Amino acid sequence: MIKSLLLSAKRYAPEREIVCGNRRYDYRELNARIARLANVLTEAGIGAGDTVAVMDWDSHRYLEAYFAVPMIGAVLHHVNVRLSVDQIGYTMAHAEDRLVLVNDDFLPIVEELADRLPTVESYIQLSDAAEAANTSLKTLGEYEALLASTSTDYLFPDFDENSVATTFYTTGTTGNPKGVYFSHRQLVLHTLNMATTLAAYEGVSLLRSEDVYMPMTPMFHVHAWGVPYVATMLGVKQVYPGRYEPNRLVRLYRDEGVTFSHGVPTVLQMLLNCDEAKDTDLGRWKLLTGGAAPTEGLVRQMVERGIRFYTGYGMSETCPLLSLTHLTPEQAALPPAGQVALRMRTGVPISLVDLRVVDETGCEVPLDDSCVGEVQVRAPWLTQGYFREPEKGAELWQGGWLHTGDVASVDAHGVLQIRDRIKDVIKTGGEWISSLLLESLISRHPAVANVAVVGVPDPRWDERPLALVVPVEGQEIDSGTLKQHLMQYVDNGEINKWAIPQQIRIVDSIPVTSVGKVNKKQIREQLAAQG
Ligand code: ADP
Repeated sequence: MIKSLLLSAKRYAPEREIVCGNRRYDYRELNARIARLANVLTEAGIGAGDTVAVMDWDSHRYLEAYFAVPMIGAVLHHVNVRLSVDQIGYTMAHAEDRLVLVNDDFLPIVEELADRLPTVESYIQLSDAAEAANTSLKTLGEYEALLASTSTDYLFPDFDENSVATTFYTTGTTGNPKGVYFSHRQLVLHTLNMATTLAAYEGVSLLRSEDVYMPMTPMFHVHAWGVPYVATMLGVKQVYPGRYEPNRLVRLYRDEGVTFSHGVPTVLQMLLNCDEAKDTDLGRWKLLTGGAAPTEGLVRQMVERGIRFYTGYGMSETCPLLSLTHLTPEQAALPPAGQVALRMRTGVPISLVDLRVVDETGCEVPLDDSCVGEVQVRAPWLTQGYFREPEKGAELWQGGWLHTGDVASVDAHGVLQIRDRIKDVIKTGGEWISSLLLESLISRHPAVANVAVVGVPDPRWDERPLALVVPVEGQEIDSGTLKQHLMQYVDNGEINKWAIPQQIRIVDSIPVTSVGKVNKKQIREQLAAQG
């Protein structure tokens, strides 16, 4: 049960802090506030099986909801506030939300949607300003005032550990977003496993009680990769940054003594490029990336700045963690530059994860790091289907394995390398090009800040790669120079000549998805519209 995750910090680290904006309190207070929130929800008529939605930036309130909502037997719906208004409406109606905790910043969205949300009975306002914003919604009141009006006593019941605790929606790259869901048992197992994995890592524990944790993956995105639960169980000091702004994240790192964070590669890249990072010693930071493949350029910069850098792999359907960077003792002893290629790899499956890479005939690929197949997994914390979409759930779980839709190879040490998503692989003249590999090679050029490669239709070759490149601020780069740059990898055998994109376009920015990852679907659509 999720409530058990609160026990040890209360005992051993009652005075450690939770920090968010000007608010700072300890674990004793966290427990009291969780009980207060449970009382507020119960008084609002929320009971076992009801769904409570949260629309907030990363905050102490969100952390309180991570616990209070499931602990009363209700289901916490992490609303992806970065989806379009229509998609947000779709997810809230589909999840049958009954009560919504909504930050003032998202009131306009909910006001627009209110008529389309027949199951929603009430709203609670989350305000960062001294005065709550005006709204046409019928709210029960402001969060802090409601918490203050109720008691710190709440007898959290025991119930079936297989009860659903959380739900959220995939980003819906095709069609509507799909709802995934996780039980108390699954979240507790994921937390325990992640805690042991992060604690005992290559002689450097990534996260243990003395660390200071700040998420940089939104809390609505796959439970912020599950880390808030781990940090709370361990009684770690936690810093919630609100809305992500790179300079502020670096200031919080410096001022609050942050030691561990995680974020998708695009967020980490913005962080490194921001003004505040230029003169800040980042050497204390242990950073976990995932959600997309980090480019070599990014990893090199991290390593050069003294950051301990790790790559994890997972997806919304998998809670998320499946695999993590793993270096042998010999590899960990290499100088930092020698570790770049190793730290970019997708890692080895963490314990309790059964993972296989199978080719089209259903056979496991040889461990030669060259043959590729689809990654399929089993683990105790994978979504058992998609909410109210049994056919799609059956497709996900064909043959008793969860099909990730990712293409990977495995090396002789069992280390996984995601080569691409099945839908992003570029098929050209009967051959196969990994968009991720091309991105990584292009990113090695020092004037490249960001890059995305997609396949575009081609009458002769079926598809050809096309690269969008954002130059480093103040630097100039052209397509000819980049093609020349890629030729060296033809010469050393890393790619074939036909993999070099004819079209390399220099652009100001690259579209990203609601969770900050490169949005290849949108890029393809934009290119198609341009003709
Ligand atoms: P979305 O599909 O909208 O991006 P997810 O967060 O579920 O939402 O994304 C999961 C996908 O992200 C994986 O299936 C995989 O393609 C990609 N991914 C996650 N981690 C990595 C990684 N370390 N390397 C490469 N790709 C990754």
